[in-house]
Amino acid sequence: MGVEFRNEWPATLDVPALMRDGWVPVPFSEFIVKIHSRCDLACDYCYMYEMADQSWRDRPRRMSAETAKWAAWRIGEHARGHGLRNIALILHGGEPLLAGPQLISGLVADVRDAAGADVVVNVNVQTNAVGLNDSYLQLFEELGVRIGVSLDGGAQDHDRHRRFPSGRGSHVAVTAGLRRLTDARYRHLFSGLLCTIDLRHDPIATYEELAAFEPPRIDFLLPHGTWEAPPPGRGSESVGAPYADWLIEIFDRWYPAPRTRIRLFDEIMGLLLGAQAQAEMVGLAPSRLVVIEDDDQKITTVTIASDSASVCAPCTPTACASWGPTRCGARSASAGSSSAPAPRSDIRSRSFQGSKRRA
Ligand code: SF4
Repeated sequence: MGVEFRNEWPATLDVPALMRDGWVPVPFSEFIVKIHSRCDLACDYCYMYEMADQSWRDRPRRMSAETAKWAAWRIGEHARGHGLRNIALILHGGEPLLAGPQLISGLVADVRDAAGADVVVNVNVQTNAVGLNDSYLQLFEELGVRIGVSLDGGAQDHDRHRRFPSGRGSHVAVTAGLRRLTDARYRHLFSGLLCTIDLRHDPIATYEELAAFEPPRIDFLLPHGTWEAPPPGRGSESVGAPYADWLIEIFDRWYPAPRTRIRLFDEIMGLLLGAQAQAEMVGLAPSRLVVIEDDDQKITTVTIASDSASVCAPCTPTACASWGPTRCGARSASAGSSSAPAPRSDIRSRSFQGSKRRA
């Protein structure tokens, strides 16, 4: 296998040559921290828990306080070391609310502390909203955490996939959480809705159901698919583009009279007009995203809960460790005031793998 791929990316990536030609690495600025590795739902399309990879069973249910402190420190060190002015911290899972208020508030405070006063830390939580109660909303208000919710449309469509382990649909519970969030007191915390596409659902009805909550933004997510197991409605030999057709119906309704922002459309139109993509879903802009899990066996993208050097897309942790931040143009990581947690020998840098987001 190694011989087969010797002439392919990333084996052919010559980072020193790129840098000699004037290429400048882009530091990671978005940090997805998976603080809880189980879920109170059992959505049948969940790539995390319902597919072939069942390695989550060996992971700790909840990120340890020690790992959270290390992750916070490394995020802060990275942000200061690269002179970043804004970073995004995304609390993710499984279902992040199951991690409990103490871990969440500690992590948010520690990241802000580690990043220092010169770095704005924008915090977002991506939740299924089943546990989005008043005490969580009060906590997020105090911490300035914005909230994204997963909703697939009306009751029947949402409950087709997004069910409790008992088989009961979650639409009633999710929309109850959404109503609490969209109450005047907390609406400013609402960051948007995430909807996974099902071709059997009517696209306009889906859009209208989502738009009724007046979200600041909607993200449409394609279902999981690989060449071996293509997504529903798309065989390995098929030539059509059913997902594009589904989305185009929404685009034609949305574009003349947009009721909200739709990230995929914004991104595609931006690219067509010559802008750089802000999200990893389209375009060729370097990924600015790191995923951190409390797992000593496998990391979704790359862990920075490490005592080695900072990492920049698309450098590998190994390359970055050997060059150091100054070689790639970043400022010294020692510029900040925060002190590191006690060394932990079992937390190390990992290699890159694919990343996906869903809650
Ligand atoms: S809510 Fe998200 S993490 Fe939980 S089962 Fe559904 S898709 Fe998976």
